[in-house]
Amino acid sequence: MLDCAIIGGGPAGLTAGLYATRGGLKNVTLFEMGMPGGQITQSSEIENYPGFFEHGKTGMDFMDTWQEQCFHFGLKHVMKKVERVAKTGEHFTVTFENGTSVEAMTVIVCTGSTPKRTGIKGENELWGKGVSTCATCDGFFYKGKSVAVLGGGDTALEEAHYLSNICAEVNLIHRRDEFRASPSTVERVQRTKNINIITDTIIEEIEGDMMGVTGVKLKNVKTNEVSSLEVPGVFIFAGHNVNNSVLKDESGEFICKMNDWGQVVVNLSMKTSVEGLFSAGDMRIEAPKQVVVAAGDGSTAALQVIAYIQEQS
Ligand code: FAD
Ligand code: NAP
Repeated sequence: MLDCAIIGGGPAGLTAGLYATRGGLKNVTLFEMGMPGGQITQSSEIENYPGFFEHGKTGMDFMDTWQEQCFHFGLKHVMKKVERVAKTGEHFTVTFENGTSVEAMTVIVCTGSTPKRTGIKGENELWGKGVSTCATCDGFFYKGKSVAVLGGGDTALEEAHYLSNICAEVNLIHRRDEFRASPSTVERVQRTKNINIITDTIIEEIEGDMMGVTGVKLKNVKTNEVSSLEVPGVFIFAGHNVNNSVLKDESGEFICKMNDWGQVVVNLSMKTSVEGLFSAGDMRIEAPKQVVVAAGDGSTAALQVIAYIQEQS
């Protein structure tokens, strides 16, 4: 029986493992379907993690030392995809894709979320080279410049507003003339002078060269008029898929409380609605989707796991 099973080896899971093992738990295993590191390993540069400020270092470089540090205190890593987590009596059963399973006293689920891609020509090729899904992460790279933002939901409009404080001009491109975002957010964006709202318009292609994005080709879906914008950065906010499938039982029902968007409901201690089950990082409610926050969540969850196990014994 494991003291704790951690699912997902991004910043949240790795940090949870570090705190759990350094805090005295002997039998802690991190189940990660790939190499540990998480989605930040896709980043070409990270500048907003306090204490790490090395120009030109990629997300992969950044996560390298995390692994070394997090495994130093006894955390084990098993490269397996988890299928589901179930509470069986007082304990949990973690079942893997290949049908095998392990028992654990506690579980911390940190499987993150995945930004949706649109399939626009050039999006995949220029991903991380000017195409971004994170204004907080990458907005600063376009300080004083003009950028394009795609989407009409709350995230797109809130992020466009955030970018308007940094960039000279924000071109908000939406395929319809109505926004999904809440009316107050739409009004705030409409009032912002340097946000140029372009509706009924799709991005047909994101153009670029060896150095990254150079611009976008646009098409008005009502008039068929085509145009282009010269921008070095394109922010795509087409929604997120929360990687929450491990929390579904065999009938497809979630085993703990989730919100309408499929994010795990946790309290400030990262406790879910099920005793002994914790969640941390990008998959939880109101996650700011930042490495520093995911790491903080992971440490909080691990400290709670230690307290929970002490209470049980
Ligand atoms: P993730 O990093 O998403 O890790 C989840 C892990 O769970 C993954 O490794 C995945 O393989 C694993 N997993 C999923 N399902 C299963 C399963 N069923 N079984 C086993 N394993 C599973 N943040 C910043 O603070 N600054 C930045 O500059 C920045 N730049 C970014 C640039 C890019 C291109 C991207 C994509 C993100 C960026 N972010 C940045 C956001 C940051 O990466 C995330 O907030 C952070 O990684 C979230 O950590 P997490 O541990 O919650 O989840
Ligand atoms: P979302 O509401 O699903 O919006 C995604 C947007 O991207 C939509 O406007 C959609 O256009 C557009 N889009 C999707 N695929 C596209 C494609 N292939 N090409 C062009 N455009 C495309 O996602 P979200 O904004 O991330 O929000 C997710 C949920 O979180 C929502 O329920 C939202 O209310 C909530 N949220 C709330 C807050 C808040 O309350 N402060 C903040 C952020 C998010 P269409 O509109 O035409 O479909």
